[in-house]
Amino acid sequence: MIPKHRNTDAYTNSIEAPTYQSASYYFNNAEHVTAGLHERSVPAGRYGRYSNPTWVEVEERLSELSEAESSLVFASGMAAHVTAFLALLEAGDEVVLPSESYRQVRNLFHSILSKFGIKVHEFSIRDPEDFVGKVAALRGRVKLVHLEMPSSPHMYLIDVARVREAAGPDVVITLDSSFSPPPNFYPLKWGVDLVLFSATKYLSGHGDIVAGVASGREELIEKIRWYRDITGPVLDGNTAFLLRRSLYTLLIRMERVNAMGLEIARYLESQPSVDRVYYNGLESHPHFELAQQYLHGYGGVITFELKLTEEQTAEVVDRLRLPFMASNFGAPHTLVEQSTFFTYNEYSDEELRIIGVPRGTVRLSLGYSNEVSAIIKDLDQALAHVHD
Ligand code: PLP
Repeated sequence: MIPKHRNTDAYTNSIEAPTYQSASYYFNNAEHVTAGLHERSVPAGRYGRYSNPTWVEVEERLSELSEAESSLVFASGMAAHVTAFLALLEAGDEVVLPSESYRQVRNLFHSILSKFGIKVHEFSIRDPEDFVGKVAALRGRVKLVHLEMPSSPHMYLIDVARVREAAGPDVVITLDSSFSPPPNFYPLKWGVDLVLFSATKYLSGHGDIVAGVASGREELIEKIRWYRDITGPVLDGNTAFLLRRSLYTLLIRMERVNAMGLEIARYLESQPSVDRVYYNGLESHPHFELAQQYLHGYGGVITFELKLTEEQTAEVVDRLRLPFMASNFGAPHTLVEQSTFFTYNEYSDEELRIIGVPRGTVRLSLGYSNEVSAIIKDLDQALAHVHD
C-alpha cells in the first residue's frame, strides 16, 4: 500500500539532491490542486512531461556552466534542435545553415522543416570571410542563422562575432557547441542567442546516455519550454541524475582531453604516412587564428588523412587495438572511424572531392580514460605497416 504522504523532511540534509523518478505528483486536497497545479502560487510538482526537480537542478548547473540565463534538458541533442527550431520559426521564415553542420540537422531542415514552409540557405564555412559575406547579403530576409563549431570532420570554425554583425541585431543566432562545451568555448559571449548541445557527448561524458541541452536568454528558453511541454522530448529522472553527476567533472575531463588532443595531434602531424591533420590547436589548421580568438581548448577529436587508398586505410584502422570502432566522442574510451565508411558511406568520389574528404580520412575521438602513451604506441604499431 502506497502511503498518501511521505515524510522526506528527515533526509533533506542529503548533500546530493534525490533523483525524482515519478510520472506524476499528488495533491493533498482540492485547495492544493488549485494552488499547486493551476495558480502555481505554491511550489509543487505537476506532471512528468512538464517538470522534474532533477532536471531543474541539472538545468541550473548547465546555465552556470554556459553563463546562460536559463537552460532546458531534452531526450537527445536532436530533440533540443527540433524543439528549438519549432519554437523559433514559422512558415515562410528563411534560415542560414552551414553545409558542414551535423548531417541530421541538415536533414531536419531540408526534409522536415521545409515541409512547413521554412526556406534554407546553405553555405560552406570553409572560407569564414565568404560565409560572413553570404550572411550579410541576406540581411533583412533571414530570421535565424544556425551555426555549428567546430564542424566535423575538418574542425572548421566560424567568425561568430562577425556573423552577428553581418546578420543584424534582430536575427536569432543558434549555435551547436557539441564539440566545444565549456570551458573550451562560450558562444553566448559572442552574440549567440541560444547554444545547443548533444549532451550525449562531452557534457554527459561517459558514453552511457543520450541527452540534449538548450541554453540562452530566458525569453527564448520560455518559448522553447512551451514546445517541450507539448511535444514531450524529456529525460527520465535517472538520466537527468547521470547528466547532473557528469557535470561535476566536465571541466576536469575537458582539461584532460584538451592536453591529450594537442599531444596526439602533434604526434600525428610528425608521421610521414599522415598527409594532413585537422586539429584547431595546430598552426597548420586553416582556422588556427579563429581558434586563438574563440577557443580556450581544442577538445579530443582529431581528424587526419593518410596518404593511402580506402582499403589501405581500412587495414591501418583495423590494426588499431586500443580504440573501439564507433561514431561518438566525449566518452571515456577512445573511438575511431574511417570517415568514408561511417558518415560519408554513400558519397561518390565527386561528392567526397567537393566536401574535401579523401578516402584515407580517419577521425579519432580521444577517451580520457586512456593514456596518451598507450594511444601513441597503438598508432605507431598500426602506422608502421604502411611502409611494408
Ligand atoms: N550535433 C552534433 C554536432 C552531433 O555530433 C550530434 C550527434 O552526433 C548531434 C548534434 C545530435 O545529438 P544526439 O545524438 O544526442 O541526438
